[in-house]
Amino acid sequence: MATPTGRIVRTLSERGSLSAVQLARLTGLAKSTVSTALAELKRTEMVVETGTEQTSGAGRPATTLTLNPKAGTCIGVLIGQSELQVIVADVSHSVLWDKSVYLEPGYSEQTAAELVRELITEAYADQWQTPAGLLGVGIAVGAPVNPVNGQILRGGLPNLTGTDIRALLGQLFDVPIFADNESNCSAIAEMTWGAAQGFEDFIVYTLDLGVGGAIVSGGKVLRGIAGGAGEFGHVVIDPAGPVCRCGNRGCLEVYASFSGPLAEAQRHFGRKLRITDVVRMALAGDETCRRLIAQAGEAGGRGLGLIGSVFNPPLVVVSGRLATAGELLMTPLAESFERYSLVKREDVPENARTILRRSTFIDNGACMGAVGLVLRHHGRPLN
Ligand SMILES: [Zn+2]
Repeated sequence: MATPTGRIVRTLSERGSLSAVQLARLTGLAKSTVSTALAELKRTEMVVETGTEQTSGAGRPATTLTLNPKAGTCIGVLIGQSELQVIVADVSHSVLWDKSVYLEPGYSEQTAAELVRELITEAYADQWQTPAGLLGVGIAVGAPVNPVNGQILRGGLPNLTGTDIRALLGQLFDVPIFADNESNCSAIAEMTWGAAQGFEDFIVYTLDLGVGGAIVSGGKVLRGIAGGAGEFGHVVIDPAGPVCRCGNRGCLEVYASFSGPLAEAQRHFGRKLRITDVVRMALAGDETCRRLIAQAGEAGGRGLGLIGSVFNPPLVVVSGRLATAGELLMTPLAESFERYSLVKREDVPENARTILRRSTFIDNGACMGAVGLVLRHHGRPLN
C-alpha cells in the first residue's frame, strides 16, 4: 500500500487544494496520520498552505493545502539492455517529458552517460522548467544494483558490470541520485500508483529480453544484503543447460525470456524486430507471433510456479514488454503457473488464490519507479 505521504501527495495532485480534514476523508487515513505526514511534507516544502476555506457551521476556517508548484521535477532514467529512457515528472507524478532511445546491447558506459546527457538536455530544452527545480534523479538499471555503493552487479548488463552507476551519472547532476534494479523500481511504481495499490505483499515478474522480478513484503522492496534479491531470471533450472549472459548455465531466463523467440521471429520474417513488433503482429492475428508468445507464457509460468512455491504470494504483477500482449500471454502463463504450482486454485477459497495481474506501467514502469525512488527518498530515509 502507498505510504500515507504518497497517498496525500496523490490526492492533492488529483484534487488540487484541500484541507487536512478533507485529506483524511479522501485518503481514509486517521487525522493524526494526516497531520504527521503533512508536517513532514511542509518541512520538505512539497506541500504549501494556499489560504483558508470557510467550513460549514461556526468553526474557524480551515487552512487549505496544495502541492508546491515550485517543488520541482524529478528525472527517471532507465538503463536497459538495449534501451535508454528518460522521464521528467513533477511531484504529482505527471509525466512532462518521456523519450526512449534504442541501442545495441554491449554499449559502453561512456555511450550511456553521453546519451543520457543528450536526452536530458533535450528534455529541458523542450520544457518551461529549468534543472534548477530538479529534486533528484532516480535510475532504474536492468541488472541488480548494490544499494549501498551503487555498483552494478553481475546479471543483466555484462557491459556495465562493476560500474558505479550513481558516480557515472552523478557527473551530470548536482542533485541527489538514487539507483535500483529496474524490477524493484517497477514494484515501487505499481504499489504507489498502479496494479499493486492496496497490497502489502506481492511479486513483480518481468518478462522481456530478460526475466526479472521484485519481492515486496510488508510494503517494502526486499533488496537482499547486496541488492540481489528477486533475481528470478537467474535461478538455475538445469546446470547442464545453455550458457546464460550471467555466466551460469541453464538459468530460468534462458528458457523464459523473449530473447530466443525474438531471434526466431527475426529469422522467420527475415528482418530486425523488437518485442513490441512481435506483440503488435500477434495482436493483429499473426499465428507465428501468437505461437511464440504463448510458448513464452508457458515457459514463464513454469518459472512462476517455482516462485509461487517459495512465496505463495497474494498478487503477482506481470510486467515487461511481453505483458503488452495481454491475454495472448496471460492465459498460457496462468495455465502453466497453475500446472506447476503446489497450491492449486481448487484447493483453496477464492480469497486465498494468487491473483495474476498485468502491470499498469507497461512501457514506463521502471522509469516511473525511478521517479518514485526520488519521491520516496525526498527528505526521508530509504523506504
Ligand atoms: Zn543467468
